[in-house]
Amino acid sequence: MKSVQIGGLVSFTTIDYPGKLAAVLFLVGCPLRCAYCSNPHLLTPHDGEYDPERVFDWLQSRVGKLEAVVFSGGEALMQGDATIEYMRRVREIGFKIGLHTNGFYPDTLRRAADLVDWIGLDFKAMREKYPDLTGQHIAYDNMIKSLDVWLATGKDFEVRITCDPRFIDKSDLIKIAEILNERGVSDIAIQKYIPHFEDAAHKTDSASREQFFNDGAMREKINSMFQSVTWRE
Ligand code: SF4
Repeated sequence: MKSVQIGGLVSFTTIDYPGKLAAVLFLVGCPLRCAYCSNPHLLTPHDGEYDPERVFDWLQSRVGKLEAVVFSGGEALMQGDATIEYMRRVREIGFKIGLHTNGFYPDTLRRAADLVDWIGLDFKAMREKYPDLTGQHIAYDNMIKSLDVWLATGKDFEVRITCDPRFIDKSDLIKIAEILNERGVSDIAIQKYIPHFEDAAHKTDSASREQFFNDGAMREKINSMFQSVTWRE
């Protein structure tokens, strides 16, 4: 089995795993091509720039200082068994395991579920808009399957919705909240779309990006549907 390919690392963060001091590993490869991707250099599978054994040695030096390691990307589950094996090793030395995922690999998520303590799952748009946003027709259906896989574990998680006005409007946001509410999701995060330099075709204005955050009635309605709604503006 090829070892895990790591293309980036954040050595300390307080925001990527709720309530825990964590490091983040950015794994190489992603099956999607989101219009707003901020990590385009990670998408095509290639040999990672970070030696996984050196990273592991470094993680061992952080035992007792950090509490969790978050697997991000790209899509960390795209590397399948290599990711799962690395998660197992990292967990064995005492870290909680977090996973940021687009939900494209529900079967791999099921196989990794015993090792993973918390996930942040992207719900990017309504089903009909997923192909335009991600370049993949089956991404929505796979994401819903992953949501159901994780709900069955009973473990903590957060569903994240990034409000890119090119692919989501306020009525979509309410419909997404209703879908998640019906499935019994308790924690969601609604994130503002922030254009970045790689996203040359963003062509949105600040009013269209802020519309999701300055509608008090809509916020109240969505807040009332969940235990926790984080508005990341
Ligand atoms: S799922 Fe994430 S890493 Fe993959 S293309 Fe979309 S934004 Fe980029």
